[in-house]
Amino acid sequence: MVVVWKGEIMGKYFDKKEVWTNKERKLKQEFQLSKMAQLGYKKSPMLKKIFDELHIKPSTIKSLEDMERLPVISREQLVDMEQNDLPYAGLHNTTASIDRIFTSPGPVYEPHLSENDYLWARAFFAAGIGPEDIALNAFSYHLVAAGLTFHGGLRKVGATVVPSGTSSSQVQVQLIKDLRVTVYVGTPSFLMAIIEKSREMGFNFKKDFYVKKACFAAEPLFPDMRRSFEKDYGIDTYQMYGATEVGDVAYECSAKNGWHICEETIVEIIDTYTGKKVPHGDLGEVVVTRLNEIFFLLRFGTGDLSRIITEKCACGRTSYRLAGIAGRVGDAVKVRGLFLAPSQLKSLQLKFNNLPLQAVVTREGHNDILTLRVEKTAPEIGSLSWDENFKKSFREICTVRIDQMEYIDKGRIDSGEKLLIDKRKW
Ligand SMILES: [Zn+2]
Repeated sequence: MVVVWKGEIMGKYFDKKEVWTNKERKLKQEFQLSKMAQLGYKKSPMLKKIFDELHIKPSTIKSLEDMERLPVISREQLVDMEQNDLPYAGLHNTTASIDRIFTSPGPVYEPHLSENDYLWARAFFAAGIGPEDIALNAFSYHLVAAGLTFHGGLRKVGATVVPSGTSSSQVQVQLIKDLRVTVYVGTPSFLMAIIEKSREMGFNFKKDFYVKKACFAAEPLFPDMRRSFEKDYGIDTYQMYGATEVGDVAYECSAKNGWHICEETIVEIIDTYTGKKVPHGDLGEVVVTRLNEIFFLLRFGTGDLSRIITEKCACGRTSYRLAGIAGRVGDAVKVRGLFLAPSQLKSLQLKFNNLPLQAVVTREGHNDILTLRVEKTAPEIGSLSWDENFKKSFREICTVRIDQMEYIDKGRIDSGEKLLIDKRKW
């Protein structure tokens, strides 16, 4: 039986965990972490091996800080580990009953946590989805975790689900129309394709249908696409973030200013080179530990880049937030110890009317030098006040400081050129 969650605190939050103080959250999560380490040591041959090889006693993993003693496991490593010991590399609870086995490209196999978990339910709750909604779930139900886990989350908040999966856009349009679908769950590009198809079929998506909300995952939601969904089609959009290996990780609330970290996960932002946490606010790799008793994958390195927002959110939830995903670890370069990603430069570019620009990193002696090349497409570019404003925005978006500006003639930067060039020799 599926229990429909109505929200414990006046229906505003999914449960009281969402408004815990930071101290409460840390204590409860540390308790769970310590339990997971000890149980994992007993039940998972691989976790025992990892601990023994590092001479770590499971009872000494007690605080969030203790986690840094454990290795980060990337998807590539997990695939290798699993191939050596199918299906879960011995990272699972060997005496637990596992209700589903998912797979994702690699191949990598994951035991589904439990049918009673809250996967994605917090995200749907925060997006205001409830029993009155009819949700089209356009994620695949075949082999991968997406379809069934999003389905479970929608059921937890009471929504009726249309399990349309990867049916053609024509079929999806038909379902949206006939069943009066109110929520779309899937990728943003597929929703655009569905809207396009509905136009071809002679419908006006905004006027003829009832889709008022969309929850996206698995793909970035670009600002212009979001604007189009919201303005042109009247669809309120929400982003969700997770990985098959660890489940849901973060979700957007109505404030749409960062993604709240799920209460069941511990997220660390680390320096990929050292495995250590970076200060709050700095860019680094998202490393996730899902607190559970079935799959002991501690410190899963997602390969995604993000930073933590610690300021209070207008929605009242107290969890820290992720500032979206700034790209993949391999795309970023480190400047004076801080990551700089092409996507950050893209955001800056958008803020300045698509200004052609390029960041070039060089080295003088032992110092990294960051030069910003900017095309002089308008007379004010290069003036003292423009320069000051630009540098300020750069620092806000990219965290790093610019060492020198280079103003170049209009048309000198080819639109196909890279936004970020690393000229340092290693
Ligand atoms: Zn919020």
